[in-house]
Amino acid sequence: MDDLNFGTRNKRGDWAPSAPLQIASGWVQPFNIKKFLSFFISYIWPWNAFHMGTALLYWAYVIPPAQLMQTLSWNWALWLYAVNAAAIFVLYGGVELFWYVKRKQGTRFKYNGKFPGDQPSDVFWFKSQNIDNFLRSFFFSIPLWTLVQVLFLHAYAIGYVPWLDWANHPVYLAALVLLCPAIHEVHFFCIHRLIHIDFLYKWVHSVHHNSVNPSPWSSLSMHPVEGFLYHAVAFWHLVIPSNPIIALFQLHLAGFGALNGHIGFDKLEITKDTPLESHAYAHYLHHKFFEVNYGGDGLIPLDKWFGYWHDGTKAGEELMEARFEKKKARLNAKANRASS
Ligand SMILES: [Zn+2]
Ligand SMILES: [Zn+2]
Repeated sequence: MDDLNFGTRNKRGDWAPSAPLQIASGWVQPFNIKKFLSFFISYIWPWNAFHMGTALLYWAYVIPPAQLMQTLSWNWALWLYAVNAAAIFVLYGGVELFWYVKRKQGTRFKYNGKFPGDQPSDVFWFKSQNIDNFLRSFFFSIPLWTLVQVLFLHAYAIGYVPWLDWANHPVYLAALVLLCPAIHEVHFFCIHRLIHIDFLYKWVHSVHHNSVNPSPWSSLSMHPVEGFLYHAVAFWHLVIPSNPIIALFQLHLAGFGALNGHIGFDKLEITKDTPLESHAYAHYLHHKFFEVNYGGDGLIPLDKWFGYWHDGTKAGEELMEARFEKKKARLNAKANRASS
């Protein structure tokens, strides 16, 4: 596919889409039913359907019987870690292998014209973004994902929280499934905005931001505090009446879904003429400019409401620059007051 039909490439080789980023169509006024229906299909297919599919597969083949999970034990916890790690290795590693190692698509639709593997840097362990991100994912974030998983499964198994069944609550549970991506977006926006507060940023979140040009391995490359808070989104299902399969779906939206923001390509050419939309651009802009787009891609447009939204256009950039100038002036005034 010719990516220049969909965007532009600058002198550095960075590609950007021509179409501005859009928040979910349900929020756009006047309401347009046609646009909403096409949004709704893209809401379900393919990514959220994939995460629901993996949750169902886990429930059928991976999650131990409730009776076993009534007792906390290393046996089933390590089993869950092994499956989570293997699944991430296959999913993230697959995209890395074909798009970053074999580079089957070259730099077509790639936001940053360079590949992290070609850019050694002192900020990373062993000077390698790939090795650093890989180790942090498998030794910190996936164990913490598993910890969250073990805790909520145990809570359901011992009857600590209500376990609603599908036969008696089909409509409520189906509605809750549809709400999970929105819960994810709100949870992620809140913890993410929190760890952008100066001292938390320095101490915690800067680890994730070392990857200015992210690749799939960057998705879960987090400080342990962030790794826990991020996956703790599944605990919402201990607060609202729910069901462990839905909690698992919520966890997969976080663990597997982190891939989306860090694919680095706008479209993955599955075959020559079959593109898969990555939905990566909003979060790519966050990695590039830091203080924009704290949430996802505008399902619940918190960034828009709080003034952080960058839609990838010139106008978006001007809004961001004006905000940065204001912040600079505020900080300067504070420094002057302190020194006088
Ligand atoms: Zn990120
Ligand atoms: Zn951030």
